[in-house]
Amino acid sequence: MIESTTVLFGLPGVKVTGVFRESDGSRVVEVVTDEDTAAACPSCGVFSTSVKARVRTTPKDIPYGERRIVLRWNKTRWRCREDYCARGSFTEAIAQVPARARTTGRLRTQIGAAIGDAARSVVETAAAHHVSWPTAHRAFVAHAQRLLREPAPVRVLGIDETRRAKPRWEYCTGTSRWVRVDPWDSGFVDLDGYQGLLGQTAGRTTAAVVAWLSERTPQFREQVEYVAIDPAAVYAAAVRTPGLLPNATLVVDRFHLVALANDAVTTVRPGHLGAQGPPRRQGRSRVGEPAPAAHRPGTVVAEAASQRFGTRSTTRTRAPRSFRPTSRRKAADRAVDRALRWGPPPHPPPAAPLPHLVHPLEDPS
Ligand SMILES: [Zn+2]
Repeated sequence: MIESTTVLFGLPGVKVTGVFRESDGSRVVEVVTDEDTAAACPSCGVFSTSVKARVRTTPKDIPYGERRIVLRWNKTRWRCREDYCARGSFTEAIAQVPARARTTGRLRTQIGAAIGDAARSVVETAAAHHVSWPTAHRAFVAHAQRLLREPAPVRVLGIDETRRAKPRWEYCTGTSRWVRVDPWDSGFVDLDGYQGLLGQTAGRTTAAVVAWLSERTPQFREQVEYVAIDPAAVYAAAVRTPGLLPNATLVVDRFHLVALANDAVTTVRPGHLGAQGPPRRQGRSRVGEPAPAAHRPGTVVAEAASQRFGTRSTTRTRAPRSFRPTSRRKAADRAVDRALRWGPPPHPPPAAPLPHLVHPLEDPS
């Protein structure tokens, strides 16, 4: 009966010695170690025959039936008698339940697949399997790492940040210190092919981006021809790290420049309309109609953008022309340099009268 119960239970490395029901109705499965290598010292590899103690653990396992069962594993703590071995004793471990693990491997696999494949939330999956959120998340990370592959080389690489959570502190087991985790992630995408999201790393710092790119193959880094970013100095510094992306040209993506222009127009337009006198309803253009010359974004973007984001230079910034797409690397670099000099001022100045903001946009043709 016990042998067939072991087969039915199906956890590799253990043998069922009994099944019974507790007074509260919960089912308990008692098992002992049934793996030859479990008695081998993990340090020196020599098999031990000297029993030090008997211990019992209750690792969480996958559910059976409508209610989960309690797994009680009776295992042995062995002494290591080898003179040259620094380890005095060790407790049996099996592949499904390594040392210090409090869940079975098949439970971690099930949790990881539930989150990664079935798209269930970490919170819901953790509650359904009676484990903590960090345990469920670690199972998901392990599941994802088994599936993720090294991205193929790309021609155009996009880098942008994503807010992930509030700032928090995490304990680093490698350095045994608490570290502040940046709640931003940096994502890397294939802008020219079909790979989509290539990878994501914690933080939006130069070091984080350099570290992720350094983990890629030399072929990957050499084949990157363009890197598109928003006007972020940390990303520009990472891309310009000597030898990291030897053939890449840095460009600023249009989305942020257009958003910048729209914000600038929104900022200066109320002041302009107030100076002109007529109510907004009369002066506003409808969709499809050409706007009055003074209302065209191109005429006010440069100064307004400069006013909103501030600039160290006293020279006027003609943003639309400077950021016109160009194949020349030096021109693109100059445009990026100019964009990166913008930074949010501590107190944005009030909008100036429109006549001081507007100047005609030069016709590039
Ligand atoms: Zn040993």
